[in-house]
Amino acid sequence: MADDMREASGGIHAEVPELEVRNLCKYFPAGKGRVLKAVDDVSFAIRKGQTLGIVGESGCGKTTCGKTCIGMLTKNSGEVLFQGRDVHGMSKKERFDFTGKVQMIFQDPYASLDPHQKVYHIIAEGIRVHRLAKNRKDEEGQVMRLLEMVGLNTEHANRNVHEFSGGQRQRIGIARALSVNPEFLFCDEPISALDVSIQAQIINLLAELKAKRNLTMLFIAHDLSMVKHISDHIGVMYLGNLVEMSPSDELYGKPYHPYTEALLSAVPIADPDASEKRKRILLLGDIPSPVNPPKGCRFCERCTKRMEVCREVRPSLKEISDGHFAACHLYD
Ligand code: SF4
Repeated sequence: MADDMREASGGIHAEVPELEVRNLCKYFPAGKGRVLKAVDDVSFAIRKGQTLGIVGESGCGKTTCGKTCIGMLTKNSGEVLFQGRDVHGMSKKERFDFTGKVQMIFQDPYASLDPHQKVYHIIAEGIRVHRLAKNRKDEEGQVMRLLEMVGLNTEHANRNVHEFSGGQRQRIGIARALSVNPEFLFCDEPISALDVSIQAQIINLLAELKAKRNLTMLFIAHDLSMVKHISDHIGVMYLGNLVEMSPSDELYGKPYHPYTEALLSAVPIADPDASEKRKRILLLGDIPSPVNPPKGCRFCERCTKRMEVCREVRPSLKEISDGHFAACHLYD
């Protein structure tokens, strides 16, 4: 199954995928000998220049999965390969090179940037650490080009971070990430802390940069509304598992998993007529505790289509149509 999933998201071809994740598990101790299975047997691959969006409610394990993929968290089992190299088995030198190739864009631009630091220093730091400038003039030129690239003015360089709005701070965060010429961006809900009016601007900027720089991205989001515009493939996560994975257009056009259907029914539609006709699927109850997940399908208690078998047998991820996988007994 892991092999099929990797192929579906562009993995098993002549080229080595940029990121390949095989049966990844990340657990946390939860007291009294119990274990919280935040990421439980997750597999996928991302081909160079492509974006995989991972979507799910808070607490489903998506951010933990991303952080484990880039080595910010240790794994319990499974494998993470970046350009064919084991992310969790790197030497100090390999790790340093890896931080030049893989950068992160954080969820909250208010918390991830020091408000009293000058924008110039924030962006120049990576250039200095990775010795990417020949001299001070070259460094200044790089910082100014990065500011322009993310839609800020060069005179912003000498201002402190606290003088900027949330959207502008996220642009500074993006310039900081790009300062080391990365090949891969891990975007951890980069728009969820921003006003709705600003979210589309940041998504458009990331999409433009992705195309210009042939960046590969892992993009985490809590709903399906914006992620469509930037993702080539989308994985839907529920309680530590991937429950559906598909090319982006296909997922929006024909979702298979009842959880994906419910998430999609909550996505706003611009056309008022279509919006009125659409039926919102309300999920039953709350997301169960990942410390004590249901025995069979983890979505069972909230699913309006559940059957007897769902309580007892955990559905495995199966290819339902070409490159489109779902874990649900409706397709057995
Ligand atoms: Fe619903 Fe059963 Fe499918 Fe789970 S396996 S999503 S409970 S129908």
